Amino acid sequence: MDKKLFNTTKYLRIVIQIVFFIMMPSAFSSAFAAVKEAAVAISQGGELGFTPFAKIFLFLLAFTMICGRFFCGYACAFGSLGNWIYMISQFIQKKVGKKLPSIPSRTARYLQLIKYVVLLAIVILCFAGFSGMVSESSPWTVFSLLINGKLPTEAMIVGAVILLLILVGMAFRQRFFCQFLCPLGAIFSLLPILPTGRMVRKSEGCIKGCNLCERKCPMDLKLGENEWREGECIQCRICSYGCPKSSISLGMIPRGYGDIVWTVIEAAILMAVLKFVI
Ligand code: SF4
Ligand code: SF4
Ligand code: SF4
Repeated sequence: MDKKLFNTTKYLRIVIQIVFFIMMPSAFSSAFAAVKEAAVAISQGGELGFTPFAKIFLFLLAFTMICGRFFCGYACAFGSLGNWIYMISQFIQKKVGKKLPSIPSRTARYLQLIKYVVLLAIVILCFAGFSGMVSESSPWTVFSLLINGKLPTEAMIVGAVILLLILVGMAFRQRFFCQFLCPLGAIFSLLPILPTGRMVRKSEGCIKGCNLCERKCPMDLKLGENEWREGECIQCRICSYGCPKSSISLGMIPRGYGDIVWTVIEAAILMAVLKFVI
């Protein structure tokens, strides 16, 4: 492992996450609002409008298809929140010398399917005319209000309790919500179909018995094991820069400074289109 490269990518990611958290804290909920809008419009026999929410959603779909889940790894405020709460939790666990229980990887892989059920349930409720109830009980709505300095209303008590439970879950697992519950993540995980958005592992050079990349992966992925699950990858690059044999890279982008430049370009494109174009 090249320590300098590892630290450069680590801190670059934190900086990009902070910039997006400050400048675009609600991008994820705006994108998902388009799904709810579409379900409501179809159920009422209305037309699908090209609303700002729909534009954000369509752009993120296209971006994720081509570049993979960079948005999830670097730009989504809710995902970043998970990373930070987990970091604080790890720090406290080290200080007190006690470890929180963890979910075995195998179990986590099955639990990842829950998010598809959540997505289906939300779409059905919106179709059935309960979109207002969905918004009020959404932890995203409560989170968006809080980061805009507003308090949730009494009607949002369910959303506030769910948000609290999710925050607790993030202390146990950094991408607790993304892995198990996020309906947008359920959609995004089906999209990275092009090689440009996928992490590639050359397992020929692997050290015998080493499974560092799998142990460190926040999404419980073992690259090259099951192609269908690789859409779960959020492109954090932890596996790539932690690998002692430099065997993992993103698509055709060479691992190293080329990848760092590409990361900055991806972040700039996302920011420019989401903030200034749409
Ligand atoms: S899975 Fe959902 S919450 Fe997690 S980073 Fe992606 S959009 Fe955000
Ligand atoms: S960290 Fe590198 S060497 Fe170890 S298993 Fe993963 S790809 Fe192979
Ligand atoms: S550790 Fe590697 S495989 Fe896992 S999410 Fe990050 S980039 Fe993807």
